[in-house]
Amino acid sequence: MMKINDECISCGTCVDSCPVEAIAESGDTYAISDSCTDCQACVDSCPVNAIVEG
Ligand code: SF4
Ligand code: SF4
Repeated sequence: MMKINDECISCGTCVDSCPVEAIAESGDTYAISDSCTDCQACVDSCPVNAIVEG
């Protein structure tokens, strides 16, 4: 499953890249839920490379 790490600047860009709506705001940052299918579509959308395998 993919995870969002501490590099996240909370820009929200990745949210729309996910086909199963697994990315949502979580407190001050963003998080990926268990519905993630590991498709990797979000990875390239992040300007600071905060979405990593985890
Ligand atoms: S890997 Fe795919 S399913 Fe998982 S959060 Fe990213 S875009 Fe969504
Ligand atoms: S695109 Fe990257 S920096 Fe922006 S909210 Fe998503 S994980 Fe955070």
